[in-house]
Amino acid sequence: MSEVNAPSDRIRSCYICWENESDDDGPLVRDCACRGEDAGFIHLSCLVASAENESKNSLGNKNKFIEPWVKCRSCLQYYQNELSVVMANKFVSFVEGHPHDLNFLVEANNVKLFALSTLPILLPTQRKEAKEIGGKILSLIDRMKGGLTRSQSMTCLQMAEETSVTREATTVLPRRYLEIEASTYRKLGLIVLNEGTRESAGEAIAHYEKFLDLSKAINDTEGVAIAERAISIAKSKHNLFVIDPVERLKKTQAVYDIHVETYGEESECAIKSGASLAIDLWDTKRWVEAESLIAKLASISKRVLGPEHNTTKLVESKLHWMEKKKKENAHFVLYVLTLLGAFVVGLLHSLTGLMILFVLLTLCFIMLEWFFSLKESTKRMARGSTSAQAADMANV
Ligand SMILES: [Zn+2]
Ligand SMILES: [Zn+2]
Repeated sequence: MSEVNAPSDRIRSCYICWENESDDDGPLVRDCACRGEDAGFIHLSCLVASAENESKNSLGNKNKFIEPWVKCRSCLQYYQNELSVVMANKFVSFVEGHPHDLNFLVEANNVKLFALSTLPILLPTQRKEAKEIGGKILSLIDRMKGGLTRSQSMTCLQMAEETSVTREATTVLPRRYLEIEASTYRKLGLIVLNEGTRESAGEAIAHYEKFLDLSKAINDTEGVAIAERAISIAKSKHNLFVIDPVERLKKTQAVYDIHVETYGEESECAIKSGASLAIDLWDTKRWVEAESLIAKLASISKRVLGPEHNTTKLVESKLHWMEKKKKENAHFVLYVLTLLGAFVVGLLHSLTGLMILFVLLTLCFIMLEWFFSLKESTKRMARGSTSAQAADMANV
């Protein structure tokens, strides 16, 4: 919850109860795309009570049942950071406390896994928890596939046996749960890949391959494109080879095109996959296109999600990186030109020793440039996995 009830010229108040004091759950919170001095602030207790109320009145409508827990009703964007995790925990507690349907238990845990997998930094305890939740979702879906008669350990199972939706699931599992199964493998892949070891990359490949198989089984072209890209990145980490930048660019372009076509250029997932595309364009030496794309995305993200949003910060950091690299490259060209000029002067005056020195210095610059560009490219490849978070935004 990034913003609290800090002193301000204008007094902030909760947009539900209109009080401006802290309550038992703490100060006013806000972490979405709301901006300005006072818009979108709310007490956590008011937010949870309102979400519970809306969910209870929307049992027949899955989206309306879930949305109050994940999206701000003011700006209609997803909560992020700690607030998204806190709300996901409250959602799971709500569903477990009022077991209407096994399907809702899957949905609530899916929201929780989404919240954890999109945190900018995942603590070891959160990583462990995320893996456990992923396992729980997969086990719940397995039970739905298998016909749900066993384990008494799951809080909602007995209740679920009584529901019509779940009876349908014993014969044909609705597509929605196959999508959740696929996206769970995807999130698990991302979480283990970010552990950064060769072994974890191997584990990530196994998850991503299941994600790919399931996406193919349900004809999900977006899932297939994301899975293929993620597998190639994980394989490069596992086998420690560098992927051909042109091949990676093609895969990233495919993901970005699908995001733009499906969710629009201004959607958060298109902004994130576009940022990965800009990096891949840069790596294939298409610098002008790369810079123009990242500048456009930074402007869209600032306008749609706000300057303080994680996605805006991510895109702006890539824009600043490119601007810095451009300056460095301009300096490099200037050095080389100066040295060559000096070489010509040496040549005209027949100073052999001076000419050899200039040639050696020029070669040194070229070698240094090659070394640093290779290092950057490898580093960025390691960061590439973060872009796999992009389309998760659309999968909650
Ligand atoms: Zn309130
Ligand atoms: Zn908001």
